[in-house]
Amino acid sequence: MPDTQFDLIIIGGGPGGYVAAIRAAQLGMKSALVERDNLGGICLNWGCIPTKTLIKNAEVVDTFNHAKDFGVTVEKFSADYGSAIDRSRVVSNRLVKGVEFLMKKNKIEIFKGDAVLTARDQVQVKQSGQTLTAKNIIIATGARPRSIPGLDLDGKNVISSREALELKDVPNPLVIVGASAIGVEFATIYHPYGADVTILEALPHLLPKEDEEVSVEFEKQMQRKGIQFKTNAKVEKAEKSGTRSEIKLHVTTPQGSEIVAADKVLVAVGIQPNSENLGLEALGIALERGAIAVNEFMQTNVPGIYAIGDVTMKLALAHVASAQGITAVEHLANKIARPLDYNAIPRCTYSDPQVASLGLTEAQARELGGEIAIGKFPFRVNGKALGINNYEGFIKIISDKKYGEILGVHMIGPEVTDLTGEFALAKSMEMTPLELAHAVHAHPSLTEVIGEAALATYGEAIHM
Ligand code: NAD
Repeated sequence: MPDTQFDLIIIGGGPGGYVAAIRAAQLGMKSALVERDNLGGICLNWGCIPTKTLIKNAEVVDTFNHAKDFGVTVEKFSADYGSAIDRSRVVSNRLVKGVEFLMKKNKIEIFKGDAVLTARDQVQVKQSGQTLTAKNIIIATGARPRSIPGLDLDGKNVISSREALELKDVPNPLVIVGASAIGVEFATIYHPYGADVTILEALPHLLPKEDEEVSVEFEKQMQRKGIQFKTNAKVEKAEKSGTRSEIKLHVTTPQGSEIVAADKVLVAVGIQPNSENLGLEALGIALERGAIAVNEFMQTNVPGIYAIGDVTMKLALAHVASAQGITAVEHLANKIARPLDYNAIPRCTYSDPQVASLGLTEAQARELGGEIAIGKFPFRVNGKALGINNYEGFIKIISDKKYGEILGVHMIGPEVTDLTGEFALAKSMEMTPLELAHAVHAHPSLTEVIGEAALATYGEAIHM
C-alpha cells in the first residue's frame, strides 16, 4: 500500500525541480520533491553560484594586479584563494537555505534519498523504502561532468569542476581540457592568482559554439592576458609520470602528436545526463543518447511523466531548466502552457571578457538562405565602458533583411551577460532592430551600445 498520495512528484531539487514545485504549489497542487543531496542542484551548490562568486574574487585580484591603470600604487598584496573558496561556500549555502525556506513556505514535502520510478504513478525512495504516488511525475535529475576515454577523472590530478570547487590551492601549472563555458570560466578564476593556464580545445576556436567573430575576439583577449591555448588540439589520453604528480597529456593537432605536461588537469568536455538507475527502462521511457526524450511541453512518451532540465539535454542551462519546469507544470495542470523558443533564451559565459548570445550565429543565419542584415558596434567608443576601463569587445545583432526579425545577438565585453535582458524581451516581443533603436538608452550606460548596434543595422549608428 502506498504511504503517501500527491498530485505531483518531482525528482530532483535543482533549478528545474524546485521551481516546478513552487509553480505547482501556486496552482494548488500538493507536491513531493525527492532529492538525495542539497536543494539547489549543481547550479546553487557546485556550478553557477560558487563559480560566479569565485569570478568576482578573481576580478578583485585582477584589479589589484592592474592598480596602476587607475593611478593606484599597491606595494605588496596577497590574495588568499582559500578564502575565495570559503566565500563561495557561504554564498552557496545561503541560497540553499533560501530554497529550503521557499519549500516550507509553499508546503512542498521534501523526501531525502534516491528516487526510483516503480510504476507510471509511483516513486520509491530507496533509502527509506517509502512509496509515493501521484498522477503526474516530473524527472529533473540533472547531469554530471563527463570525461573522455583515456582521461579518467581521479579527483586529484585529473579533476572536474566539482573537485575544483573545493580545491583551496590554485592549481599551477594547470591544463584545462575543453574551451566552452566551464573551461574558460575556470581560466578566468585561476589566472589572476598567477596560475600558468593552458586551454586545449578540440575544435578550431575557443568558445567554439559562439559566433566566430566573438570566438576570434575572445582568443585575442586571451593572448593579451597571457592565457595560453591550443585549438584543433584533441586530448587523446593522460599518463601519470613516475612518482611525481605530473600528468602528461597526449594531444593530437593538425601538425601531429605532442605531449602537454601539467600538475593538474581540469576536464571540461561536457556533461552527461543523470538518467541511470531511475527505473526508466522498465516503464519504457524513451531516451535519446542517454537523455530523456521530451516534446515541446516536456512530456516523455509515457503519459503523466515529464522531464525537464539537463536530463533532457535540450539546452543545459539553469534558467532553461526553470522555464521548462514552469511549462511542464502548467501543461499538466491543464493551463495554457508555453513551449519554449530556445532561440530566444540568453546563453551567458562569465569569463573575462564576458560573452553572451542568443539565437543563431552568423554562419547559422546564412545557412537559412535568406538575406541577413548585421548591425555591429564596439564598446571602445562608449563613455561608460572607457570610464570603467573595460572597453574591448562589441555587440552584433543579426536580423532578417526583409522582415527585420532578430535572428541572433552576439556580445563580448563589459557586463554583457547583464545586457541580455533587453534582447530576451525584444525577441519574445518579436521586435526588429529598428524598434530597439527607437528605445532611448540611458547615457552614460553600456546599453547605449545596444541602441548603436541596432542603428548600425541600417548604417545609421551615431558615434561611428
Ligand atoms: P561543453 O559541452 O559546452 O563543451 C565542451 C568542450 O570540450 C567543447 O568545446 C569540445 O569541443 C571540447 N572537447 C571535447 N572533447 C575534447 C578533447 N578530447 N580534447 C579537447 N577538447 C575537447 O561543456 P562544458 O564547458 O563542460 O559545460 C558543460 C555544460 O554546463 C554545458 O551545457 C554548459 O552550457 C553548461 N555551463 C554553463 C555555464 C554558463 O551558463 N555560464 C557555465 C558552465 C557550464
